[in-house]
Amino acid sequence: MAAILPPSMLGILGGGQLGRMFAVAAKTMGYRVTVLDPDANAPAAQFADVHLCAPFNDAAALKTLAQTCAAVTTEFENVNADAMRELARTTRVSPSGDCVAIAQDRIVEKSWINKAGLPTAPYLAIESVEDIQVELSPYLPGILKTARLGYDGKGQVRVSTAEEARAAYANLGGQACVLEKMLELKLEVSAIVTRVSSAQMAVFPVAENSHENGILDVSIVPARIAPALAASAQQMAQSLAEALDYVGVLAVEFFVLADDSLVVNEIAPRPHNSGHYTLTACLTDQFQQQVRAMCGLLPGRTDLLSPVVMVNLLGDVWKEDGREPNWDVLAEAPNAQLHLYGKKQARPGRKMGHFNVMAATADEALEQAEALKDTL
Ligand code: ADP
Ligand code: MG
Repeated sequence: MAAILPPSMLGILGGGQLGRMFAVAAKTMGYRVTVLDPDANAPAAQFADVHLCAPFNDAAALKTLAQTCAAVTTEFENVNADAMRELARTTRVSPSGDCVAIAQDRIVEKSWINKAGLPTAPYLAIESVEDIQVELSPYLPGILKTARLGYDGKGQVRVSTAEEARAAYANLGGQACVLEKMLELKLEVSAIVTRVSSAQMAVFPVAENSHENGILDVSIVPARIAPALAASAQQMAQSLAEALDYVGVLAVEFFVLADDSLVVNEIAPRPHNSGHYTLTACLTDQFQQQVRAMCGLLPGRTDLLSPVVMVNLLGDVWKEDGREPNWDVLAEAPNAQLHLYGKKQARPGRKMGHFNVMAATADEALEQAEALKDTL
């Protein structure tokens, strides 16, 4: 297929921070951008040529996207996969609606991961109340997760006994769930792969991720794990992209267990919060890769230019009376880059921005990043 070149119009479903950083990358390369998002203040709208301010399933807005965009992508997985399949009848859509549908449902997702020959935590798929009337001990203590619409730790209940698991399932209203064995994690890491075709793949350096209340807090790159283990995570991410015949940017989250084995946790069919370090520290960033892949261009090189630490800025950092944090020190730190997403309302847990700190080693970057966060 012929490559799509500037100044073609590119469309994106969703106008949050991921859509905003996509729009910046696309505009920088000379493309035009249309964003579909129902929020008049969508962070991506500030950088878009066209903002279709309508619901994601709005037929007229989807028709405009199909007619005016040379290619369409998404910034979130909970977009209607059928709408993406419909768009694909008239324009180029990546990733495919089929791949997005896989990432939307933990039951389908895990079976695909296993089918690709990769390990997951032991899990039980629960589609109806009969499914949970079996011996649950292989999955306990465990986490009951809703199959759909969970993110940032939402839709999850920790359970230790079969009674607790069954009660929690009933409490979630009997919706489809997975009961996953709670594993002892040494670390969490992620690998982000860009795939245009089997012959055209590039994978970013592995990030080490720490979470706070189920939300990503800090990513450290390179991950402080053995190089062979990092290479194996990259390899697994690539083989998953291949198994899915995936086109676009695919993020793969892993658990590192006590014996240094890797287990796939979940995937995201888009750039990922743990890849924001690439904006500062890689030759090509993850949003440039998203643009390149959807346009059928070769992925760019993913070399790490320097050890780097990314720190998320949640609404919790804002002052109680609504005042901004003290940006003065962070904004002029010579080895730091501040990114704010232009969201009007700061709320606890809401992702408002992030900053990247580069230093000679990952440990040094971490130390400096923590000190900078303390100045806010
Ligand atoms: P989300 O979609 O909310 O990111 P995840 O499945 O990634 O959901 O779970 C969020 C976090 O909860 C993980 O990053 C990890 O810290 C923890 N977690 C999830 N599943 C397990 C598990 N099976 N064993 C141990 N910790 C887990
Ligand atoms: Mg996760």
